[in-house]
Order: sequence, then C-alpha cells, then structure tokens
Amino acid sequence: MPKNIPFVDLKLQHQPLKSELENSIQAVLERGDFILGQAVEKFESSFATACGVENGIGVSSGTNAIALGLQACGIGPGDEVILPANTFIATLIGVLHAGATPVLVDCHAETALIDLEAAQKAVTSKTKVILPVHLYGQMVAPSKLKDFAQGNNLIIFEDAAQAHLAQREGYYGGSVGTAAAFSFYPSKNLGCFGNGGMVITNNAEVANKMRSLRNYGAPRKYVHEEVGTNSRLDTIQAAVLNVKLPYLEGWNSDRNQAAQKYDTLLSPMKEKGIIPIQNLSGTGHIYHLYVIRVTDKSPINRDILKEKLGAAGVSVGIHYPIPCHLQPAYQNLGYKQGDFPNSEILSQQILSLPMYPVINEEQINHVVETMFQIIGK
Ligand SMILES: *Cc1c(COP(=O)(O)O)cnc(C)c1O
Repeated sequence: MPKNIPFVDLKLQHQPLKSELENSIQAVLERGDFILGQAVEKFESSFATACGVENGIGVSSGTNAIALGLQACGIGPGDEVILPANTFIATLIGVLHAGATPVLVDCHAETALIDLEAAQKAVTSKTKVILPVHLYGQMVAPSKLKDFAQGNNLIIFEDAAQAHLAQREGYYGGSVGTAAAFSFYPSKNLGCFGNGGMVITNNAEVANKMRSLRNYGAPRKYVHEEVGTNSRLDTIQAAVLNVKLPYLEGWNSDRNQAAQKYDTLLSPMKEKGIIPIQNLSGTGHIYHLYVIRVTDKSPINRDILKEKLGAAGVSVGIHYPIPCHLQPAYQNLGYKQGDFPNSEILSQQILSLPMYPVINEEQINHVVETMFQIIGK
C-alpha cells in the first residue's frame, strides 16, 4: 500500500534522465556560452516547431513572456486586454507590466475556461486583445476564440503556461493566436531547473521585437531602439529543456491516461457532489492539473476534505484559492465580491489531486480509496 502520495514528483521524473541532463549541462560549461548560447537557439527552434509555430523567443519566465509578448504585439498604455478572473496571478501581472489595462471576465463553471459571452460584454472601443488561459492543460476552443477575435477585431494572445503541446480542434496550445506565452517553471508539464519562459509567434515582426525587448531593447549591441529589459532564457536552462522536450508528448499522454483512470474511479462520486472539471478535448487535454469540484451536494466541505486527505498522506492543492479580482494587491482595479460568480464559486470548490506523468495505478487507486474512506461510499 503506498503511504504518502506527493502532489508532483519531479525527482522520479528526472532520475532516468540523469546522465543525459548532466551531459547537456556539462556541454554548456565547456562551451561557456552562458548568455543566448547554442542550447537556447536549439530549444527555441525545436519547441516552436513542436508547437507548429515558426519563431520561439526564450525569456526568463512565463510572467515576462506575457509582459514582453504583449509589448512585442504593440500593446501598451491605453489598450484593454480581456483575461479571465480565475487564473494564476501571473497572467494579470504580465498584462499590467506591459502597461495595458486588464479587463477581467468570468469563466464557465464546468470547464473553468474563459466565458466568451461574458468577454463579449466586456469589449469596448479600447479593447485590443483577448487573452485566453488554457487552464489546467485544456485549451479554450480555437474555433470560438477565432470567431470572437475576428468579430471584434482583436488579436489573440494565449497564456499557454499550462498547455505545452495541448491539442484541441487540430491546434496546439500557443498556435491559435498572434503570439503565445509559455512558462518552464519546474512543475509545469515541461519544466526546467529554475525559471524560464518563451513567446512563440508566426509573425516575424513580433519575433524580432521580442528578441530585442528581452535583450535590453538592442537589436544590435549597444544600439537601443526600444525600451527593453534583461529577460533572456538562461543557456543552462535551455540545455535542460533540450533533454526533456523529446519526452514531453509521452509525459502528456501518461497524464491523460492517469486522468482517465481518475475519471473512471471517481464517477460513482458524482451523486456525492464530487465532479471533475469537464474535459472537452479528449486526449488533447494534457492535465497540468487534475481538478475536481467539491460542490454543495457533497457531504463534506472542500477545505475539510483537503485537510483530511493531507492527514492521510495524500497531498492536494487548490488552483487557485482566491480569484485575481479579490486579491488584496489588485483592489485598485475596482472589482468586488460578486463580480465573477463562477470564478468565486470555483475558488471555494476546486481541489487538485496528485498528478504527474509517473503516477502509477496503485497510487491513483490509493488517492480515490482514501477519498471514499473520508466521504463514505
Ligand atoms: C505558471 C504560470 C504563469 C507564469 O509563469 P512563471 O514562469 O512562473 O512566471 C502564467 N500563467 C499561468 C496560467 C501559469 O500557470
């Protein structure tokens, strides 16, 4: 019987890659090309290609990928960007750092993805961007996104930080819009050994501007054509990512299979008000997180369930406990409780169960068994 089930297990994932990783990092040390070295170029082109997009520009984090990516698309002060209220705070930070005005909208309760009808009501003459978040590893439907963007004359900028090689309607995450941001934070589906991010785009002008913005705004050394910053992907991180990228598809499919296993085992819990977040993209959902809703019908409240699972050695999480509009630091945006009901309800109901590519059947059985013990069959 497995005792403790971690929330993610990176050690186990990296163990079989140990010598490949060491060799790749060692090669950087030997070349000494620590800033924008060979490994960065290689990773930029191979990751963008894997996503079906022409250009990849490595940056220092997913947050900076959003901030600089929007700037590279020509977005700045006076421009409104529509984004969901239920996302990781970095989406909002990215928009603010680009100097643009964030306009939050609600999500669908079933999928936790942005509600485009709500977004339609939020469009003004200043709106320039729709910024969908492919939350938990499931893409917002590309066809609906494109219709929405075309109908309102907006650009699509995807937050694909949880959607590395996610698929829906034949599109990869990050290939739907003008540009997209990725994060390689260690626990993402493709993670490095520190911080990292990337913008991908088919637009050569946006790509060139990105390369300049992340590198002091200097397309050529000491010639500063833009107000840029220092936000490059480290060569050593790229060396790690080059080793891991070929395994990503396999890991994603392992996660999807683990999720199917959870779905099956948890289905009797529907009558107890425990419902997984809906998957509308089949095997295209890459399950960065496996999230259930502990609804009103449940005999047990989400926080108590979380505590009891923790006490039983099953580590779970909440993504995210406070929607962006209710975060203390952003009260100046002028939102209040009640503005985004679905986001608020979800923040009370959601629970993320252990999910990582190497989670095995016995562990999944144990998680669900423990839930049955706590809730009762
Ligand atoms: C992780 C994440 C980010 C930010 O990435 P960092 O690399 O941590 O800056 C942005 N958006 C979403 C949805 C994320 O999950």
